[in-house]
Amino acid sequence: MSKGILVVGSLNMDMSVNLEKIPTVGETVLGNDLSYRAGGKGANQACAAGLLGGEVRMLGCVGKDEFGEKQIENLKKAGVDTSYLKKSDDQPTGTAIICVDSHGDNNIVVIPGANKECDAEYLKRQRELFEWCDYVVLQMEIPYDSVLCAAMMAKEAGKTVILNPAPAPDELPEELCRNVDYLTPNETELMKLSGVTDCSVSSMKKGAMILLEKGAGCVIVTLGEKGALLVKKGEECLYPAKKVKAVDTTAAGDCFNGAFAAALAEGMKEGAALGFANAASAIAVTRKGAQESLPAREELKDYLGDVLAV
Ligand code: ADP
Repeated sequence: MSKGILVVGSLNMDMSVNLEKIPTVGETVLGNDLSYRAGGKGANQACAAGLLGGEVRMLGCVGKDEFGEKQIENLKKAGVDTSYLKKSDDQPTGTAIICVDSHGDNNIVVIPGANKECDAEYLKRQRELFEWCDYVVLQMEIPYDSVLCAAMMAKEAGKTVILNPAPAPDELPEELCRNVDYLTPNETELMKLSGVTDCSVSSMKKGAMILLEKGAGCVIVTLGEKGALLVKKGEECLYPAKKVKAVDTTAAGDCFNGAFAAALAEGMKEGAALGFANAASAIAVTRKGAQESLPAREELKDYLGDVLAV
């Protein structure tokens, strides 16, 4: 039986508008269309793990509004247990307003709203969930103190912590790194967190070593179409990505993290779990959108070939 996965993180409604040109200060322009999509790194990663067969519960906070209801509906469809989510009395569901111009360049405004209320006090009231699970999956779209609190509660309960340090803060304190088993930055996040200045594989290894020195158990750098690089004391290994025609890489990293957690929870060893995560995110990049691009367990079977046998 699959082990329990607890995702602690953000839920956002992404409002996207396509327009010819992003307006400058004082300018009003007409948009071509408007779409509403459930997003937020926490919700995306929970959906990814749930769709891939993980037994997932989520902690986070939405507003008492239509967007919050939509988030909960999407998570439920992915098989995620939403009964522990908090509903804020005062704050609206977190929202991202995304303007995409005719060249595909964008401008994004994030309003954290209810995500700010996913605070340490709320998390401390959920201690039994930290006991229930085996894996805790975190990102950085909720307050830093909440991320630290969740990582510490997980480690006190003897659980495995996966932290996707996105969006990357200016620095990742040792007190947090020491409570993380798997740290999963992408290339730009690793550059910001470690100070290395280019994204050659040798620099990525150097950057990962810096984060290992800060106390992380293992660093997995996602390298887009190149795959994922695992670095831990005495071991370095590149797991190549599947070759696909990418049409939209939104949520590739979220898919990767959710899939990695689902694979570990299913009992796969690290190497097989990384193959599984690469295969799942390769499917996600061939489709448009965030949560709508995430693959289901059955779709992955044909894709995996012999990865599951590793
Ligand atoms: P993020 O979305 O956080 O920027 P990455 O771009 O590193 O993260 O992508 C995460 C994972 O998604 C990669 O490690 C890889 O497995 C997969 N992936 C991303 N882009 C591609 C691509 N063009 N082809 C195949 N796999 C991809």
